[in-house]
Amino acid sequence: MKIDIVSVFPEYFDVLGLSLFGKAQAKGLVEVAAHNLRDWTHDVHHSVDDTPVGGGAGMVMKPVVWSECLDELLGLDARDISEIITDDAAAAAADGEPVIDDTGDVAAAPRTVLIFPNPSAPLFTQQDATELSHADRLVFGCGRYEGYDARIPEYYRAQGVDVREYSIGDYVLNGGEVAVSVMLEAITRLLPGFMGNAESIVTESYTGENALLEHRQYTKPATWRGIGVPDVLLSGDHGKVDRFRRDESLAKTDRLRPDLIERLDCKALDKADRKT
Ligand code: SAM
Repeated sequence: MKIDIVSVFPEYFDVLGLSLFGKAQAKGLVEVAAHNLRDWTHDVHHSVDDTPVGGGAGMVMKPVVWSECLDELLGLDARDISEIITDDAAAAAADGEPVIDDTGDVAAAPRTVLIFPNPSAPLFTQQDATELSHADRLVFGCGRYEGYDARIPEYYRAQGVDVREYSIGDYVLNGGEVAVSVMLEAITRLLPGFMGNAESIVTESYTGENALLEHRQYTKPATWRGIGVPDVLLSGDHGKVDRFRRDESLAKTDRLRPDLIERLDCKALDKADRKT
C-alpha cells in the first residue's frame, strides 16, 4: 500500500519508522511519504491559510495551495468543475454521493482514496479501517487552524476521486496529524503480513460481522496480589473457555455499548447466545 500524507508538520510522521509500522516499511508492505504542504506555496511567507470568508475567528486553509499539492500527488489537471458537472452533481459531490462522469456512467470506484480528518465528519470505525485496508493508495490531508476550505473535498469528489472525511471522536484536536496517525494505524495493521499473529486481529473488538467488545484478557500468574483469574480459563476445556469468553463478550458489550448489541444480526447468534 502506498501512503502519502500532506501536513504543515510532516515531522509528526517521523515515528512511522518505529515498531510494527517501521517493520512493515522494511518488508515493503507499506511505502510512506510525508509531504510539507508549504512546498506548494509561492509566496515569501509560505502561507497556507487565510481569513474566513464571511468573517469570524481564526484562519482557514487555502484551496489554492491544497489543490496544487493534491493535483500533483493524484496526477490530475486543474479544472473548473462548473464546466464539467451540473449543479445537482456538485451538490451530490459535496454530500459524498457518487458523481456522474462525462460519459454519463457512475465513476468506477478508484483504488486511491483521499482522506481528510475532520471533527465534524462521520465517525471513523473499524469497518472503515477494514474497507480502506483494501485500497492500493491512501492520500491523507491534515487540516490545521479552523480547518480546510470546504470546496477542497467537494472539488476532488467531482473529479471522480474517492474522497472521505472522518472524525476520530467527539472532541477537537489542534490538527489532523494525530487523527491521521490513528486512522493509519487502524488501517495498516489489517494488511496481510503486518501483524506477527494474524489470528489476533480476527477476534478483536469491533471486528467481524457481529462486532462485539472483546472479552477480558489475563496472563500468568493465575493469582496476582490476591486476585485470581476465572477458574474456567484454567480448566483446559477449550469448548468451555470459548463459551465463557463469548458470554463475557456479549455481556460486556451489552453493558458498555448497547448500540452494538442493537446492530447484531440475530441469525448469526447461536442457541447458547440467545440465553445470554
Ligand atoms: N473549526 C473546526 C471545528 O470546529 O470543527 C476544528 C478545526 S481543528 C482545530 C483543525 C484540524 O484538526 C481539522 O481540520 C482536522 O483536520 C483536525 N481535527 C481536529 N479534531 C479532529 C477530530 N476529532 N477528528 C478528526 N480530525 C480532527
